[in-house]
Amino acid sequence: MASQNSSASGSSQNTGPGNHLHCYHNEIPPLRVVRFQGPKMGKRFYGCSFWPRTCGFFRWADEVNDEREMRFLLLEKDTKIAELEHEIDMLQLKLKEVETKNAELEDLVHEVGIECTERRLIMESASADKKMGFYLVASWILFAIMFWLV
Ligand SMILES: [Zn+2]
Repeated sequence: MASQNSSASGSSQNTGPGNHLHCYHNEIPPLRVVRFQGPKMGKRFYGCSFWPRTCGFFRWADEVNDEREMRFLLLEKDTKIAELEHEIDMLQLKLKEVETKNAELEDLVHEVGIECTERRLIMESASADKKMGFYLVASWILFAIMFWLV
């Protein structure tokens, strides 16, 4: 009695709609992709695995509620998301590069600006020295003239 029960439970593992798909050879048909140019190109289908001696089994994958098709679509979506995420990463990297370059340029502009002001200050102080020198000489002359007059 016990051995009969165990052998019966072994056949219950066929779950999910995809596992019920079989060709007329009673084989699980492989998932294939249309490779020739045309409106159906890239479309997935199930065909007999004994091609070209096919039993005539053919089914568009999107017309079958198949687990493998679902998994494939999910994988495709994941790949696309991963690609987009990669693109975002690349864009962020580029943005960072541009920002770094921008900061460098700003530093450069700042440095040049400082240099310019420093130069202007030096020139201004130099001209101020000249002016001071002139006033000093002028006052000495004035002082001398006043001294001679007295
Ligand atoms: Zn077949």
